[in-house]
Amino acid sequence: MEHIPTKTYFSLTALNDYGHNIIQHGKKALIVTGRNSAIKSGVLNDLLPILGNSNISYSIFNEVQENPDISIIVKGSNLFKLMNCDFIIAIGGGSPIDAGKAISVMAANNLDSKNIYNISLQEKAFPIIAIPTTSGTGSEVTQYSVLNNNESKIKAGFGHQLLFPKIAFYNPIYTVSMSKIVTRDTAIDALSHLLEGLYSNKYCENIVKYIHEGIGIIYKTLIPCLNNPENIELREKLMYAAHLGGCVIAKTGTTMQHSIGYPLTTEFDISHGLANGMVMKYIMNLFEPYVKDRLNDLFNNLNIKKSDFFEWLDELLPPLIERESQEIKTFINKRVPEVLESRNMALNPCNVKKEDIIYIYNKIFCL
Ligand code: NAP
Ligand code: FE
Repeated sequence: MEHIPTKTYFSLTALNDYGHNIIQHGKKALIVTGRNSAIKSGVLNDLLPILGNSNISYSIFNEVQENPDISIIVKGSNLFKLMNCDFIIAIGGGSPIDAGKAISVMAANNLDSKNIYNISLQEKAFPIIAIPTTSGTGSEVTQYSVLNNNESKIKAGFGHQLLFPKIAFYNPIYTVSMSKIVTRDTAIDALSHLLEGLYSNKYCENIVKYIHEGIGIIYKTLIPCLNNPENIELREKLMYAAHLGGCVIAKTGTTMQHSIGYPLTTEFDISHGLANGMVMKYIMNLFEPYVKDRLNDLFNNLNIKKSDFFEWLDELLPPLIERESQEIKTFINKRVPEVLESRNMALNPCNVKKEDIIYIYNKIFCL
């Protein structure tokens, strides 16, 4: 496993027991979060007294929306500098955590919206503390930040060792307030990460046990959790599976399954996890000949067949969206070249052709 420098605390009292460790990382925090998640999840309630007891002052930046736009990163970075902050506490799903990472490098290196993706300019970063409120992206233990450009509608990520959070505080209680849809979509995102670890050409044998364990948990736990959203044991299992998914992609990166999903999010407002879920069966069929043994081992380990897995996915995901065929043709013409150029394509287990991508988009829109 690639070295993940993030210190992780995982318990029902993680912040209360270990929150005092935050003090090693700064005196003035910019708390980066979304409109509601930090409050609804209960994190702010737990965190603010700890900051008070540690004499850490803070400003709150709660404007991060889903799939954060670069303009929000600029705004957050300006506030960070204006308020003389020296570290970030990111609370939320992947969107606030990714935004927190990007604000940190933008502020530390005086970057702007044009050069934020240029990792050769990322020489330093302010420390990042991550407190996840979804069980999905694993961003709290990865070196990636995924941003959206609302103008071009291009969503893309960058990765740098400096972006690994210093500490991740996991507490499954914080995920109980997620809606059913957010619970489902974020778990499907974690599932994508685990599967993409199997597909990636950076795959290696020592991550197999994480992948099998994580996928097994999601397969067995997600539907029961959707039916019992307040069950902490089930929430804990999903959170752990998402953590494993983050650890896996920190090593292997993600593949075309993510690249092909990004335009579905930016054009049709389909959530990140659902976009990955919609293409999951088709990507598995496309990659299967090149990773046959890995998939056989997975399904043997789960004691199921691929067809069982596909049925389970069909049960979970909503019906396919109907769109005007002209709208889909325009979408395909515009977005397929972008998918082909995305950096995750280098990690596919085979050479993917333009026609493969068009086939998958046609399938999901029932053309
Ligand atoms: P998200 O976009 O952070 O949040 C989705 C929605 O759920 C928001 O409306 C959010 O509300 C709400 N929410 C979050 N936690 C909640 C809670 N405990 N209770 C109630 N509502 C809650 O979702 P996400 O799927 O975790 O993150 C997706 C982003 O992460 C995408 O941009 C994706 O590309 C990125 N990603 C990053 C990595 C990585 O390694 N860095 C990997 C995969 C994906 P608020 O608006 O109030 O926050
Ligand atoms: Fe993802």
